[in-house]
Amino acid sequence: MALQRTFSIIKPDATRRNLTGAVIKKLEDGGLRIIASKRIQLTREKAEGFYAVHSERPFFGELVDFMISEPVVVQVLEGENAVARNREIMGATNPEEADAGTIRKEFAIDIGENSVHGSDSLENAKIEIEYFFNDAEVVG
Ligand code: ATP
Ligand code: MG
Repeated sequence: MALQRTFSIIKPDATRRNLTGAVIKKLEDGGLRIIASKRIQLTREKAEGFYAVHSERPFFGELVDFMISEPVVVQVLEGENAVARNREIMGATNPEEADAGTIRKEFAIDIGENSVHGSDSLENAKIEIEYFFNDAEVVG
């Protein structure tokens, strides 16, 4: 077991429906600590940069439009095996395939509007945390 940090976004479908607290409760109940958090409005440029790895995918335009449609909450989560643990708590990308009790099963609208993002590796977690937070904002 290893103490890790991962990066999380509460997406616009969740902030719009006043589910910020409900999502955070799932993360905390799942054993993760929120060690940095801020509600922000993403710019198109910032969202395109964040999802650059998906820029050739057919849903890229739709994804960016969605991510800038309402504010998001960006967070750093810490805990044992936080990268994998967060993805377990989130559930599968497509909520129809997500396990019972996961954030996406309970709250997501569809595969596009799926309530949360979570880093997919420790390496990407570090990159994504640095994309949104400076050292002084991550307070442990
Ligand atoms: P995220 O990166 O947001 O945590 P993920 O790692 O489960 O999600 P990815 O394959 O990285 O899934 O896709 C990134 C995001 O792109 C998804 O969360 C979803 O919002 C959107 N997306 C993925 N596949 C589709 C699709 N087929 N149609 C529409 N949107 C999609
Ligand atoms: Mg991903």
